[in-house]
Amino acid sequence: MGGAERELDSLEARLIDAVERLGDAGRAMLRDAAKREGLSVTQAQLLLRVTSPTAGPQSTGSFARWLEVSAPTVSDAAAALVRKGLLESVPDLADSRRSSWVPTGLGGEVAERLHGWRDPLTAGLSAGSPQDRATALRVLLGTIASLNRTGRITVARTCLTCRFLSDEHPDGRAGEWCGLLEAPLGAADLRVDCPEHESAAR
Ligand code: SF4
Repeated sequence: MGGAERELDSLEARLIDAVERLGDAGRAMLRDAAKREGLSVTQAQLLLRVTSPTAGPQSTGSFARWLEVSAPTVSDAAAALVRKGLLESVPDLADSRRSSWVPTGLGGEVAERLHGWRDPLTAGLSAGSPQDRATALRVLLGTIASLNRTGRITVARTCLTCRFLSDEHPDGRAGEWCGLLEAPLGAADLRVDCPEHESAAR
């Protein structure tokens, strides 16, 4: 078997192909869902992020890093969402020079419908066993952590990049433990977007 064939046949190459196919399909489904609501993909992503319960208060810059776009792109998308009556800008009580975006009632309804773009993926994943899903989560989070260390993924608020993660319980037993929540973390408990995350790289 030649080098090219080995590369095509390797498990890593097939996993990358599979992730790429899922990413392409996911982007197409999100684009269709956004179109049905009369939104661009960036506007839909911003509305979903603003209404995410795990996002917490965020600046234009942090939205931009999360969406991997420029700050002006986020500002333009937010302005469009405000014009469409889906977001409103409210003053930040802690700092009068700042404001933050909150969804209007209509914005919340649109976000709820937009979330449906994930349903076909959820149905596909449900076919695997809980153990297989937990293993897949760990492998993907490990890959995200690797890309985060090399600067290819800017924001990674995951357990595997968090300073609170320990591989030992306080009583010395083996097993992952969150020092902030003071709770064990089973393989299926690892978080992808934790509001309490603090980078282990600090
Ligand atoms: S704080 Fe959040 S990201 Fe960090 S280890 Fe605990 S659950 Fe995971």
